[in-house]
Amino acid sequence: MDLEWNGSWSKAAHGYFNEIIEIGATMLDDSMQKIGGFHAMIRPVVSKKITNLVTDLTGIAADELKDGISFEQAMRDLTAWIGEGTSVLLTWSNTDLSVLLENYRFFFKKTHLPWMQNYVDAQAYCQSRMDGDDKQQMGLTRACETLGISDEGLTAHRAQDDSEMTARVLAKLFDRESFEAALRPADEEFYKRLTFKPYVIGDIHHPLIKNGYLSFRCTDCHRRLKTKKDWRFFNQSFFADMVCPGCGKAYTARVQVKKKYEGVAVKRKLTEKAPKPAEPEIITKGENRNG
Ligand SMILES: [Zn+2]
Repeated sequence: MDLEWNGSWSKAAHGYFNEIIEIGATMLDDSMQKIGGFHAMIRPVVSKKITNLVTDLTGIAADELKDGISFEQAMRDLTAWIGEGTSVLLTWSNTDLSVLLENYRFFFKKTHLPWMQNYVDAQAYCQSRMDGDDKQQMGLTRACETLGISDEGLTAHRAQDDSEMTARVLAKLFDRESFEAALRPADEEFYKRLTFKPYVIGDIHHPLIKNGYLSFRCTDCHRRLKTKKDWRFFNQSFFADMVCPGCGKAYTARVQVKKKYEGVAVKRKLTEKAPKPAEPEIITKGENRNG
């Protein structure tokens, strides 16, 4: 499934709201053969003004959406189209899924998608099936190029064509065993994980900050360093000046503690301070420093 949406400030949504304006989906059977397609244009109600960003990216203009259906109707049609039986929803990265949930919360006051049984992040799955050590998220167009998949007759950034491209990439990389390992049942745990927002801890006295995170040893004589002043927090990290009680070496310690869904991620870095220059720079009296 692929979605296009229009972002705007909304009083009713108490802030920024991504209103879905187009839904496209491609249905594959369990041997990766295409067995159907779904498309809906949705008439926006939160913001009738379509931002230039959206029009430039998708080519969708406000005029085109006047004949669209309501989000409620689109969800009824979609549910009927999905039908009975076991299904797996896939989207290219879980951003689309998050936006869909945002719309469900807004229009239906629901925090779950009643028709979703299982989910696979197609982007993460396909990238894991491709060679290369690229840490960056791979875009759909690049995945098609890399795999030599033709996008002939398809328009990028339109919902139905993007879903078709996702289906083609998936079909090329699909393998039953790895796919089943990537499959997530849409249970309570799944929604908790999806909606969890990781955050950096900025309070040094926070109970999740263990003493060990803030303890460093001299790289030369391995004695435990002493903190010269209090830890301070800036640039998403704690910093402290440290000194070795044995050899007198001076250091700057940097620690970042991030709360993630799975637990706490700690980044630690110890940098030796450059020794002070022996002689201060001498500026001759009367000399014009600028010229
Ligand atoms: Zn030392």
